[in-house]
Amino acid sequence: AKRLGGDRIEAYRASARSIAAYSRASEEDLDRGLRHGELQVQFQPIVDIHSGQIAGAEALMRWEHPQRGVVTPDEFVPLAERTGLIERLGRLAFEQAAGQTREWMNTLPLDEDFFISVNLSPSQLASETLLNDMRALVSENRAVAGHLKLEITESQVMTNPEHSAYMLAALKTLGLRLALDDFGTGHSSLSYLHRFPFDTIKIPAPFVQISDESGMSHTQVPIMRSIMALAAELDLAVIAEGVETLEEIERLQALNCHYAQGYAFGAAMSGAELTKKLQAQFAR
Ligand code: C2E
Ligand code: CA
Ligand code: CA
Repeated sequence: AKRLGGDRIEAYRASARSIAAYSRASEEDLDRGLRHGELQVQFQPIVDIHSGQIAGAEALMRWEHPQRGVVTPDEFVPLAERTGLIERLGRLAFEQAAGQTREWMNTLPLDEDFFISVNLSPSQLASETLLNDMRALVSENRAVAGHLKLEITESQVMTNPEHSAYMLAALKTLGLRLALDDFGTGHSSLSYLHRFPFDTIKIPAPFVQISDESGMSHTQVPIMRSIMALAAELDLAVIAEGVETLEEIERLQALNCHYAQGYAFGAAMSGAELTKKLQAQFAR
């Protein structure tokens, strides 16, 4: 191959820089997106694995970028954390989820256990303002607070277990429900689990997904069994994540897992789309 000359290398570098600047979202960009309503939560159904009914949903944020199309949270949540925009993003996700929950509770015959969960980012749990923000948000959404669930990852909780215990107790007192996300991926939380007021644990896809032709692997089965036994002991609901196949659904049913979430039941969708699914469920 022909080697590039000096000028061409410089031109190439300059264009690479401008592509990088264009393709990586910036703080100003995200700030503008937040002000212009480009960030919206979508809802992924969470299904009762025995009845097949939608029992709740997880609110997942999407950024409809005017030039770049849909940007996923893996990109903009870290950006929001770095730039201090995470608190606004967090309030927005909660407000949108609460508003949609209010509409569903008012228009559909949903049962008392119906829940919508909202993710907290790592820095939110550590933040001084979280409790004040949540206090205000809950008082604006009194009627549905008991249907809202905060998802907090295990590694977030275990970064500072003492502080987490305090924060979680305070959030629980506000009437919110709490789910431990990505259970089993952080440090051993078993000895701490009973000290935190979680009502749900979420099992990440690698423990759930079957890649082996002969079914769940020799390590997956005992892990899932012991999680289910532990959850029963501590009176926790279990949600299996990343469920994509019928085989996985059947396996989870056999393990007596309570809830499942994944492409087998649907990806994140707009509130209007989930409304249709919920209506269809009640029409049956
Ligand atoms: P997460 O909380 O573990 O969310 C589950 C992720 O798995 C979502 O990705 C979801 O779309 C994806 N997923 C669902 N079902 C399947 C499946 O069957 N197979 C596979 N392969 N993936 C599936 P998403 O929406 O891109 O979100 C990524 C992460 O970003 C989330 O992980 C969550 O930690 C974070 N996030 C999302 N929305 C928010 C938000 O509003 N605030 C904060 N702080 N974080 C958020
Ligand atoms: Ca989550
Ligand atoms: Ca998760």
